[in-house]
Amino acid sequence: MEVLTASVGFCIGIARAYRGINDHALRDSSFTVAHQNSKLEQDTLRRIERGDPELLKRYPGLSQVAVIHDVSTLGDGDRLVLGFHGLPPEGKSELASRGVKILDDLICPFIARLDRIVEQEVQRGFDIAMVGSADNHHLRTARKIAAEHGRRCFAIVSAQDIEALPFAVGQPVALVGEVTGNTEIFHEVIRLIETKHLPVKIRKTMCSDSYGRQRRAAELAEIADVVVLIDDGGDGSQSVFEVCSRRNKPVHRVHAKEVIEPAWFEGANVVAIVGGIMVPEWTIADAAEHVRSLAAAQPPSSAAATAVG
Ligand code: SF4
Repeated sequence: MEVLTASVGFCIGIARAYRGINDHALRDSSFTVAHQNSKLEQDTLRRIERGDPELLKRYPGLSQVAVIHDVSTLGDGDRLVLGFHGLPPEGKSELASRGVKILDDLICPFIARLDRIVEQEVQRGFDIAMVGSADNHHLRTARKIAAEHGRRCFAIVSAQDIEALPFAVGQPVALVGEVTGNTEIFHEVIRLIETKHLPVKIRKTMCSDSYGRQRRAAELAEIADVVVLIDDGGDGSQSVFEVCSRRNKPVHRVHAKEVIEPAWFEGANVVAIVGGIMVPEWTIADAAEHVRSLAAAQPPSSAAATAVG
């Protein structure tokens, strides 16, 4: 059995934030790190807290960094560096008013750009249509920004959802993509807008890293008999799951290699291992090795290994 991997590892925004925190820590580690939505088990800050040896080998300064999940406990004189998810503007202002010094905001530039574009368009009077899951934190942020300007933000989960928007009453709509949303659906929505001449302004806000990750996962799913997705619980993983599922192959979502079942690979010649944006390449490689060992334990099939991406 051949095991293929898309070893893309951390996305651009996460790698940038780890690098930035590491650089700060190597100069002076007397600060705390935080960002919003850090509750996920696979969140990047949790990985620092767990002291992942591979992570610390790459970014040794992280071993000296203190992580916090509730910034309301910070006070006058505390120093803070923000991770790839950043904090909402009102949260940063509130911290500043309490005397907390934000040394660096390492929010991913793609996320910051999405929020900026949503703000621009609602200020111009547009409602927002966002391609992505029905409830994700980017959508919630966009809804909040839209509501502050008396506008609405709609989730576009499938391409046809765009046709149900309030064009009939003359309300202008701007289409954006949740940064890690399903890029195939985004392109289908654009095709529908163009084919039906729908009055929708298109703003391309999908993240290029997520686009490449989905494309590579889809290519592997095309040639594999079975796909194993190492799921970090984020929206990027959901999109990878969706594009692989569209290839009509079984896709197994797991949080750890230990729950992978040998029965999934019965009769399979090619298995693909893919992962979300918070899943490092060493975890993918480890899962691939595990699958190979499961295959080797099941004669008469033979195990082979190839890495892609
Ligand atoms: S997946 Fe894209 S948008 Fe999300 S953090 Fe990574 S680079 Fe930024």
